[in-house]
Amino acid sequence: MAKYILYARKSTDEEERQVLSIEAQLAELKEFAAKEKLEIVASLCEAKTAKQPGRTVFGEMLRIINAGEADGILAWHPDRLARNPIDGGQIIYLVDTGKINSLKFPTFWFENTPQGKFMLNIAFGQSKYFIDNLSENVKRGLRQKLRRGEYPGWAPLGYTNELRNHTILVDNEKHKLVKKIFELYATGDYPLKALAEKFNDLGLRSKTDKRLSVGMTQFILKNPFYCGVFKYNGELHEGKHEPIITKKLFDEVQTVMQKRGRAHKTKTHEYIFCNLMKCGSCDCCITAEKQKGYIYYRCTKKKGICEEKYIREEALTQQMKEILQKVSLSDDWTEKMLTKMDEEKHTSVQSSSALVTALEGQITDIKTKLDRLLDSHLEAVIDKIDYLAKKEKLINEKVRLEEKMNEIKNKGADWLEPMREFILSSCQAKKIAANGDLMEIRTFLKNAGSNFTVKGKKFDWLAKGGYKIIAENPQCPTWLPGSDSNRRPIG
Ligand SMILES: [Zn+2]
Repeated sequence: MAKYILYARKSTDEEERQVLSIEAQLAELKEFAAKEKLEIVASLCEAKTAKQPGRTVFGEMLRIINAGEADGILAWHPDRLARNPIDGGQIIYLVDTGKINSLKFPTFWFENTPQGKFMLNIAFGQSKYFIDNLSENVKRGLRQKLRRGEYPGWAPLGYTNELRNHTILVDNEKHKLVKKIFELYATGDYPLKALAEKFNDLGLRSKTDKRLSVGMTQFILKNPFYCGVFKYNGELHEGKHEPIITKKLFDEVQTVMQKRGRAHKTKTHEYIFCNLMKCGSCDCCITAEKQKGYIYYRCTKKKGICEEKYIREEALTQQMKEILQKVSLSDDWTEKMLTKMDEEKHTSVQSSSALVTALEGQITDIKTKLDRLLDSHLEAVIDKIDYLAKKEKLINEKVRLEEKMNEIKNKGADWLEPMREFILSSCQAKKIAANGDLMEIRTFLKNAGSNFTVKGKKFDWLAKGGYKIIAENPQCPTWLPGSDSNRRPIG
């Protein structure tokens, strides 16, 4: 029969206020012992927190148990015994080594099994510790998996999960059909619906043995996993699984999909310029209608009487094309400017790298000064007040220099890149006008300006930054880098 130590504890911690007082615990435990006919060899009380190890009375209890004078503990709840992993671990160790044969709690049932010990650990107030650890381990495992190029999830159709080694293998049968889906779609001759039907007929089924839907087929075609990479949390990783298709085929499929998407869009929005413009007289929206094969745009006149007339789509696009011509840089100028930009970038990098080196030197000087200052202070050459004042001054100077250095390092690319993009886009304008694709015209205009209006059958807009300057200076853009002081990014 087990010999029990009766242990009661309550700390002066604020959060333990709702716990029974030590006197109340003792009373309850004695009644419990009498009812269960437990032999009590010692009664111990402690008024200390169990969150940190190192309680005196708890240590005394362990000594008694180790000496073999008792082999059981009776306490109100496991959290009276331990609330930290070290003390909790000691109790469990004594259970494992057989020094403790019985743990009794009026509020908790303990049995000496792995599950029982797990529950006991949780009851020792370590649930948070366990959960934190668990999720941290899961996260760490996941990061390692990603670094090794292992996809953390179920393999897509055409692959199988090899559960023993946690790897993803090519499915011998299905992968051929999946590859065929990509190849057929890339020809541009098969809409998604036709593909889904075709492969259903060929017997291809989803992982859950369902017929392929249009959505599933599209999902397959958009999944880069098949060409050897995968996205996880928005980041692209190189997979270590075997690709089924080439990157080239995958890219071709994406291009076809984009084209089909666009074709579909232009069909549903037959009147391309409706949402772009407003009436220049009354600020109402513009609507469009078809008459005798021609598209006419006009004011909706929702705000009352408006005198504005219709404008035919051909007339409208003609005006837009003229605008595009105006904001387009000639090839000649584009070339000159790009060359100039390259030179500018070169000198900018050179001059800034000289500056950065100079600043680095100054920062190193300050570091040396700080070391020396500390030495002088340690050798009692200067007193503490003097030391602190000088140190503060040096540190402030160092921070200022470091900020300046970072600013210079970032500045070069800051305005050069947007500028280059703008030049290239501006050069495109005349080509877009010549092609006459209405969707492209609309997209360009939206990027290059705002406030699109129609008034008196005339289309008008507000060009943004650089486009405005080109439109106003058709001969020679005076804002050419290096030709004046205007070096702010344009566009
Ligand atoms: Zn109007």
